[in-house]
Amino acid sequence: MAAPYIIQIKPEDNVAITVAATPAGTQVAPGVVTACEIPQAHKVALKPIGKGEAVVRYGVVLGYANTDVPCGGWINEHMLDLPTPPDVMAMQYGDDIRTDLPKAPRTTFEGYENPNGGYAGIRNILGIMTTVQCVAGVLSVAVERIRRELLPKYPNVDDVVALNHPYGCGVAIDAPDAVVPIRSLKNLMHHPNFGGEIMVVSLGCEKLAPERIMTPQELTPENLIVLQDYNGFGAMVEAILKMAQTKLERLNRRRRVTLPLSRLCIGMQCGGSDAFSGLTANPSAGYASDLLVGAGATVLFSEVTEVRDGVYLLARRTPDAPTCKRLAQEMVWYDDYLAKGGVDRSANTTPGNKKGGLSNIVEKAMGSIAKSGTAPIVQVLSPGEVPTRSGLIYAATPASDIVCGPCQLASGIALQVFMTGRGTPYGLAAAPVIKVCSRTDMKEKWPDLIDINAGTIATGDATIEQVGTELFHFILDVASGVKQPWSEKWRLFNDLCIFNPAPIT
Ligand code: CA
Repeated sequence: MAAPYIIQIKPEDNVAITVAATPAGTQVAPGVVTACEIPQAHKVALKPIGKGEAVVRYGVVLGYANTDVPCGGWINEHMLDLPTPPDVMAMQYGDDIRTDLPKAPRTTFEGYENPNGGYAGIRNILGIMTTVQCVAGVLSVAVERIRRELLPKYPNVDDVVALNHPYGCGVAIDAPDAVVPIRSLKNLMHHPNFGGEIMVVSLGCEKLAPERIMTPQELTPENLIVLQDYNGFGAMVEAILKMAQTKLERLNRRRRVTLPLSRLCIGMQCGGSDAFSGLTANPSAGYASDLLVGAGATVLFSEVTEVRDGVYLLARRTPDAPTCKRLAQEMVWYDDYLAKGGVDRSANTTPGNKKGGLSNIVEKAMGSIAKSGTAPIVQVLSPGEVPTRSGLIYAATPASDIVCGPCQLASGIALQVFMTGRGTPYGLAAAPVIKVCSRTDMKEKWPDLIDINAGTIATGDATIEQVGTELFHFILDVASGVKQPWSEKWRLFNDLCIFNPAPIT
């Protein structure tokens, strides 16, 4: 089958995107001849679009043309004026509740039970929490030694991870929004991949005193090291190694057991998106999400600025007024947060997005939302909160890849699925990250970084369901410890950039 020149999503669309760079004078559809060269993944007008007329893709208005565009003309980011964002206070809920999700080909995985129940772990990691960035240097040296000297003695433990982050002191610790970073660190400490072991390294004079993230039961000399209590660097490192040894002995006794998918919680996000992301990678992730949710798993999706323009579509998938209201509240909080910084949602799109054919945030949002599949949205979380329901959950986080990751980790995702168009080597130390690319040439360029190629959907060589099912199996193989995504294999781990919307002092 010959590859199509363009892909039109909805019949009412007056633009389509090019599958490959297309020279001027190419007939891309009956009666549509390109008026100029159009780069790969960019929009071509399917009919003349006058100045002020709506440009429609995904069946939604991406924006209004600020110039006349002929049939076959190129529409890029310079030619579109942004529409007003949807009014979140007037959203419908409950009229798009799907009950016939596709049937999953597998319903179990091999994971690690945790002492306090909840979601299962999929890796067996000693996670060492810190209360302040000041201790990061000492802890990093100690972790190097733990990895070299202790880990080989505990073959059932996968890794040791220093949870170094920029928070903890020099911050307005009692500011209302400080709840976000504090909650995130507290929940991160209990991440399912850490097996219920609590180990905290503190300095001793920081604002984020250990009792702000540890319960009275957790706050014991067995779980907490205060560096200012030790005589010199050598003694600090020895204390960390000694505590780590005790924790490693317990972690080493963990074994994988067969568990239902209701014990699995995963996250999804995208980054470095292009105009194919919403056609290939994100819809296939959405199909995998539907399979997982249908079989009882919990799937988180996020990225507020990337759903803001399509949030009314998500609201229709919330089952009741309180869930819809929570969704609206998260949007309002983020609108205010952006306004305080003197920007709006349009600040989201990157130069790479635009080069990849995504003209504005509306177009990016419509593609981003596709990763949520079609399941009902049963809960809405503030950044870093832990779910109390099973199913598809909207966790309101920044869209920034390196901030969304830690927020979802704090919510307890065992792994993250990451869709990319232009490519990023992003990864997380505490949870495996699976990469799905939107174009075949991306996979060919980065064969040792991209795990799943969804580009075959654009060329007609695979369906969304086929790639989505492949991704579903890969997710469960990674969760079960049978497979490793490339970012985990190469140990490509980003810093833990937790979300702090509160002031720095
Ligand atoms: Ca992102």
